[in-house]
Amino acid sequence: MIERSYVVAGKEIEVGFYHDRSGTRAAGNVKCHELPRLPKGLAEKLEKLEAEASGTRERFECWAWESAVTSWWEWAAGRAEELELGAVYSYGRSGGYIGLDAFSEERVEGIVLDVNDGCKNCQEPYGEHCDGKCLFEPTRYTPANEKAFRVLTNLTRFLRECEESVRGEGAIATLTEEMKFYIEAEWEERMQTKRR
Ligand SMILES: [Zn+2]
Repeated sequence: MIERSYVVAGKEIEVGFYHDRSGTRAAGNVKCHELPRLPKGLAEKLEKLEAEASGTRERFECWAWESAVTSWWEWAAGRAEELELGAVYSYGRSGGYIGLDAFSEERVEGIVLDVNDGCKNCQEPYGEHCDGKCLFEPTRYTPANEKAFRVLTNLTRFLRECEESVRGEGAIATLTEEMKFYIEAEWEERMQTKRR
C-alpha cells in the first residue's frame, strides 16, 4: 500500500493505493485476522463438541470466516455502487485489500486538481485564496466542480468505511453470530442423537 495525501479545498485527505503489475488503484487495507472471543455459554458448548469430535472447532471457525467474508464483500460491492464508485476487486494474497479499478493514481490526482481549480463564489483557483477565504466575498473556497468534489468525498468515505468495518465491533459481532449458528445447530443435533 502507498499512502498519498492531497490538499483538497484546504483540507488534507489521505488516499491509499494498491500497486501491482496491472497498475495502481485506490484501495483499502481490509485484513482481519481476529477471531471472536465467544460468550461463556457458547465457548463451553464448543469445548464439549470439540472433546467429542476433534477438529470441530477448526471446521466451524473456517465456515464462520468464509461466510462472514462473503457477506462482507457483498456489502462492499453494494456500498461502492451506492456511492457511484464502480466495481470493487480484492487484491493481495488472501484478499487483504479492496481496490477500485476506476480510480488510478492519475485519475485521483486529476480529480484533486479539478476540485482546486475554481471557486464557485469568486471563480479563482484555490491557490488564490488566503487561508481558504474568498477574496471579495464573505465566504470560503467552495469547489465550482461539485461533481469532482462529490466523487472525491465518496471515495475517501468508502475506503474509510471499509477499513473501519473490518476492525470494528460489527465484524466481531458478525463472526460471533456465525459461530453461534454452527455451534447451536451441532449441539441440537447431538442432544437429539443422545435422546434416541
Ligand atoms: Zn472563492
